Amino acid sequence: MAGEGGVRQRKRTVLIVEDNEMNREILRELLADEYDVLEAENGLAGLEKLVSRGEEIALVLLDVYMPVYNGFEFLARKQSDPRFDAVPVIMMTASGNVDDEIRCLELGASDFITKPYNAEVMKNRMRSLIRLRESSAMLGRLESDALTGLNSKEYFYHLLTDLLRANPSLRCDLVCSDVENFRAMNDRYGTAQCDRFLRGLANSLSERLPGLLFGGRIGADVFAFLIEHREDDWTDVLLRENEDPAFGRFVVKYGVYENVDPALSAAAICDRATLAIAKIKQSFGTNVARYDDAMRQAQLREHQLEQTMEAALAGREFVVYYQPKHDLHAGQPGGAEALVRWISPEMGFVNPGQFISLFERNGFITNLDFYIWEEVCAELRRCLDAGAPVVPVSVNVSRRDFEVPDLAERVAALADRYRLDHSLLHIELTESMYSDNPGQIARTLEALHANGFPVELDDFGSGYSSLTSLNTLPLDVMKIDMSLIRQASATSDYSILRFAVLLADGMRLKTVVEGVETEEQVAALKVLGCDYIQGYYYSKPLPAAEYEAYLAAHCGQEVRA
Ligand code: C2E
Ligand code: CA
Ligand code: CA
Repeated sequence: MAGEGGVRQRKRTVLIVEDNEMNREILRELLADEYDVLEAENGLAGLEKLVSRGEEIALVLLDVYMPVYNGFEFLARKQSDPRFDAVPVIMMTASGNVDDEIRCLELGASDFITKPYNAEVMKNRMRSLIRLRESSAMLGRLESDALTGLNSKEYFYHLLTDLLRANPSLRCDLVCSDVENFRAMNDRYGTAQCDRFLRGLANSLSERLPGLLFGGRIGADVFAFLIEHREDDWTDVLLRENEDPAFGRFVVKYGVYENVDPALSAAAICDRATLAIAKIKQSFGTNVARYDDAMRQAQLREHQLEQTMEAALAGREFVVYYQPKHDLHAGQPGGAEALVRWISPEMGFVNPGQFISLFERNGFITNLDFYIWEEVCAELRRCLDAGAPVVPVSVNVSRRDFEVPDLAERVAALADRYRLDHSLLHIELTESMYSDNPGQIARTLEALHANGFPVELDDFGSGYSSLTSLNTLPLDVMKIDMSLIRQASATSDYSILRFAVLLADGMRLKTVVEGVETEEQVAALKVLGCDYIQGYYYSKPLPAAEYEAYLAAHCGQEVRA
């Protein structure tokens, strides 16, 4: 803990508000060994110091009579600002002016001392006021997490901030733990069992981690520990225990951020360790990851994308590419998927893999998706007006898009504005989305479906919840994830694919297999009775002009319009 082993207590900061320069100097010298001292020469300057450095200031010593704002005005204004209300103030009054003293106390001063001051009396009053304030602030912070006995997240952040501020040259590492598939464990074994499990894990990590300073529970199943930095590789202590009598084998992933940068906020420090974990989520066999320079670069890159995304959307840097879907029965294009590309003058061609998940996290995906849908509608309208061949286009709909309450109405209004038959616009849902707010998603999909927009289930076979969603959502098409065709042709075993197609048939869903690259794959899918194929074998995603040329070259007479 802080305070032991050469880890120093932080010096508190006090603010002296006093117009007499000599008095300030005397106070400064008196306090310098125990406090960092800030000074202001009148009440207004004092308030400005509170605004700019308020979080650091542990106590104010305040003169009564000063130019600009006097001590009373300072107190009145300070009291009305909730940010500073709790900072204790000691008034420095001329001796014996009882009226002034009463007025100060009424305005919220904590105490007063009379000039000339007795240094020891003053210092003792200061210490006890500061202690009083800090302990009541801490009580409010709910120090410990009742379940695990670790510090609460808020208190962990507080300890971390304090320690780094007091010891900027301390070398320490932050370790975060995250239980893999904890949600599923909770569903399966119940909260009580899982609580016991978390408690056991917190205890055993607290015992095992070398040079532990303190730990905290910063998420439901995420713990953070601050340890002294070590040069040797100590991380095998993390991997020792991964059996539990109730759960059998379980997996905990660890992220380590070494040599914590004391200039970062506590939250940013924890982010670095959890970012390292995110890189190894669902990757079998790798359970410890260090935050490193590549991750830092990726973070900077994300930052750059975030800084420029809005201007890029306004500047039309997001461009729709179209990837044809081949209709195996008709032997010609039977649809297409709209896939976004970011063509940036500074960064060049940016693939969606680099920005979609970022935009999903920061919510910008919704702005982008509405833009893409409108671009697609405009393109369809242009082709119809030109008498060119047209096939239905699928647009991707992200989980975050469903947070828009009138999503279905807005999509319908968009299609109507471009006078499009709703059957020309397909809605593609990625599978990962079903867990979050299933009710809302199902209702919106029902509304879209009832409005005539066909619904496709994207990436079938890549996640866990596919079977439930098949039952509960109004679907028309099952898009089979490209991992299935890859695995099938690598092992020459098409049984899972066959099962998926049979399942879709049984539910009266059309099937699309994506990621098809070879003639053998096409032949096998024909035999299985799959309906559509999307993949490089037929075409990569194409910019609009090339896509139109592709349709013109490959569509026969009876293409629907
Ligand atoms: P997805 O919806 O599963 O899209 C299919 C991805 O597979 C596309 O990658 C496509 O270019 C690629 N692909 C198609 N055929 C083949 C093939 O034969 N072989 C291989 N190796 N790859 C193939 P892309 O365009 O990079 O998109 C990645 C993901 O980004 C998409 O996965 C989708 O989830 C997301 N995305 C793309 N555009 C949008 C959009 O406008 N809105 C939203 N919300 N997500 C989008
Ligand atoms: Ca898709
Ligand atoms: Ca897909």
